[in-house]
Amino acid sequence: MARLNEQIEIAGGGAGARHVCRCGRDLGPVTENYKRHALMREGPVQNAGPWVDPHSIGGDRFVCRQFFCPGCLTQLDVEIAQRGEPLLWDARIRMPDEPEGAEGPEGANGPEGASKPEGSEG
Ligand SMILES: [Zn+2]
Repeated sequence: MARLNEQIEIAGGGAGARHVCRCGRDLGPVTENYKRHALMREGPVQNAGPWVDPHSIGGDRFVCRQFFCPGCLTQLDVEIAQRGEPLLWDARIRMPDEPEGAEGPEGANGPEGASKPEGSEG
């Protein structure tokens, strides 16, 4: 079984491959950003640590997003992004039968889909 990172494995193969947390929680198909299926907490960049912009020079242009597994609440990732910027892809798996240049259903959807605790099929 392939591994995306310390917490997330790739289960299955081909078009049906899915992100799965090590607790067994499904985190959506590999064609989507798993962060959309994780719990997200967005806050000031200072949440990343006390050494990050301690004097708020960047104002509120940037945010710190933390992603957690809805099953075990393990932190899956942290990203610093511009406010309103779409979720960042850490890694993107392209399955052998996926056509070259295929895009996931992401795009300019923004982070609002990320807080859904259940992976909605469809
Ligand atoms: Zn989990």
